[in-house]
Amino acid sequence: MDNLQCTICDKKYLLDDIRWKCDCGATLDIEYEFSFDIQKISKRKHNIWRYRESIPVNNDENIISFNESFTPLVKTKYDNRIIYIKLEQLFPTGSFKDRGTSVLISKVKELGIKKVIEDSSGNAGSSIAAYCAKAGIECHIYVPEYASIGKLIQIQSYGAILHKISKTREDAAHAALSAAENIYYASHSWNPFFFQGMKTFSFELWEQLDFKAPDTIVIPLGNGALLIGIYLGFKDLLKNKLLDKLPHIIAVQASNCAPIYKMQSEKLSELPDNEWKTTIAEGTAVTKPIRAKQIIDIMSKINGEIITVTEEEIKKALTEVCLMGFYLEPTSAISFAGFKKTKTSKNEIIVIPITGHGLKTTDKIGTLLKK
Ligand SMILES: [Zn+2]
Repeated sequence: MDNLQCTICDKKYLLDDIRWKCDCGATLDIEYEFSFDIQKISKRKHNIWRYRESIPVNNDENIISFNESFTPLVKTKYDNRIIYIKLEQLFPTGSFKDRGTSVLISKVKELGIKKVIEDSSGNAGSSIAAYCAKAGIECHIYVPEYASIGKLIQIQSYGAILHKISKTREDAAHAALSAAENIYYASHSWNPFFFQGMKTFSFELWEQLDFKAPDTIVIPLGNGALLIGIYLGFKDLLKNKLLDKLPHIIAVQASNCAPIYKMQSEKLSELPDNEWKTTIAEGTAVTKPIRAKQIIDIMSKINGEIITVTEEEIKKALTEVCLMGFYLEPTSAISFAGFKKTKTSKNEIIVIPITGHGLKTTDKIGTLLKK
């Protein structure tokens, strides 16, 4: 049976219930049964909707899409090792978040919702704003004051209403949460439909690697949207007997803001109350990730690693990857900095996505390069 299911109390709801959290206050996941037909998939357009059976949107007429995806996978060398860089910055709004947004906003349209809110340090906000513009849905975005000017302008350019909240990312999340008492919360961390789009990252990678999983994927870790999406995708492939093992995932946090790393390494049952500092990897600056326990649970199931890197290491990696011809935001550079601290074996297939475009943070990159 297809359902929304609570991550804490196991209560179930219909997929078409207009809700983004459980009555108990916890996050929801989606139970969705489907089967993959490779022959059918291979005949379809190269966008995330080629995996149509896996996406819990009922009617095709509700799909909000820019024909996005099938981002290039580029073989190159970094830190004297062969890696594949997946160019996720080439999505319509310049970040990987469009995967989740296309599915979420399609479902919002299907549910007949006319107005949404979201909170974001920038990329998810831009993404939700763009897809709402295409769908004709009113959109309110709560952002922390420190977000990059390029991202704020991008959000406004799509006609979304911007709410600047002083101080931290969490303050923006709190403001959005209280507004979400009355308006549907199109959140990239709360809303379970978002993750149903993120999982297409895995399907696509599997196709690009001749229907295999890579050995290792290195990603930034903030709210865990990509991590949870990757896990769901490969788990679906495993369940459909199209894969024999899950990839190893290395998730990277900035030492300046590493709540999930601390929770895992010190075996804490709750998020720590540390006063974290800001980081140039702004997309990972999430001090209270709402799905932290779920992330820890996934990492223990797949024997994943969470590691931390310093600001200096992020800056160095950013410069190095730019010199290879890739223009990436500092949040994406965190993965490359983390990769340098790990050991991999020869012939391992390693994938590192560039999650956001450098053009979004040119002001910050300019300041870093001057130093
Ligand atoms: Zn519940």
